[in-house]
Amino acid sequence: MKIAVLPGDGIGPEIVAQAVKVLEVLSKEGRNVELEYGEIGGAGYDAAGDPYPAATSKLAHEADAVLLGAVGGYRYDTLPRPMRPEQGLLRIRKDLGLFANLRPASVYPELASASTLRPDVVAGLDILILRELTGDIYFGQPRGLRRTVDGEREGYDTMLYSESEIARIAHVGFRAAMKRGRRLCSVDKANVLETSVLWREVVTEIAKEYPEVELSHMYVDNAAMQLVRNPRQFDVMLTGNMFGDILSDEASMLTGSIGMLPSASLDAHSKGLYEPIHGSAPDIAGQNVANPLATILSVAMMLRYSFDDEEGAQRIENAVRKTLADGYRTTDIFQEGMKKVGTKEMGDAVAARL
Ligand code: NAD
Repeated sequence: MKIAVLPGDGIGPEIVAQAVKVLEVLSKEGRNVELEYGEIGGAGYDAAGDPYPAATSKLAHEADAVLLGAVGGYRYDTLPRPMRPEQGLLRIRKDLGLFANLRPASVYPELASASTLRPDVVAGLDILILRELTGDIYFGQPRGLRRTVDGEREGYDTMLYSESEIARIAHVGFRAAMKRGRRLCSVDKANVLETSVLWREVVTEIAKEYPEVELSHMYVDNAAMQLVRNPRQFDVMLTGNMFGDILSDEASMLTGSIGMLPSASLDAHSKGLYEPIHGSAPDIAGQNVANPLATILSVAMMLRYSFDDEEGAQRIENAVRKTLADGYRTTDIFQEGMKKVGTKEMGDAVAARL
């Protein structure tokens, strides 16, 4: 397991250090874990004058998987756009061809009261939102601003998906469903959009290769509603880039705790970049209060999706579950009567249970 470790900025180094503790446990058990560190974001700019230095690109290409903390910080907000930390993220995704974004949203029974929805609606929730990341209206051409013959300004974008783009994300979706509850709900707007008509056709064709997976289709407006009405009906939700952008944020808030949610972005060969969904939290950086669990759970996703090690993935997830059940809480998820711990102590507690 050759892993490029890119801690980044803000709380990035603190939370990544806890995930590395988990990898060290796996290494002691005999797994061959090789870690190589690199810079990205503001750290890349400080080290090499570039948020995605050439050395980091080389490291990422040579690795089997990338573990990333977060990027961004107040200090960099005045830099010209190409030098901003967030550009480092966009560039590494493009450089590695990461077209599939996987975001699980699960609610641990102990944290069900952290959601803005009633605990009985979200307790035990476990869904995976799969979002296509490199196509759709965000990238389709032509796009632009122009003036009409009447001199009025108008803006336009092109929603566009090719058959092969839909097919490759659909395969990721069906394979992910095979590793979970074997149900896939494809989300589109086929009642209005031609792009969605093709999307639905291609997904239905690919489904024939996965007879064990139960496929359903849902319009995106209904999906947005069902996510807050009865989110537990879903296993894997497959979406295009724009619908997924919106639905994945909606789904993440069902859980109520941004510090708990991991993500994976995969290429066509299951090489992946794994990172928490939250940012660099500069307001709490360096204080040993950040929640490292999203980053630790990102390692579980890495084992599952890049190293095909379901057993290892589940052991990490169970260690996190046990740590929560034992009452350990960082500030962001703290409730009366629990043990308040810092970032490092949380990392140690999970590693000990693993
Ligand atoms: P943020 O996710 O960093 O923080 C939002 C709020 O959640 C803050 O109050 C923060 O303290 C809290 N929070 C986030 N992660 C936490 C954790 N693990 N434990 C406890 N509390 C946590 O979003 P923001 O404040 O909008 O952005 C801060 C910086 O992060 C910006 O520079 C932004 O561009 C960048 N950003 C980076 C990523 C990424 O690296 N993937 C994603 C989003 C934002």
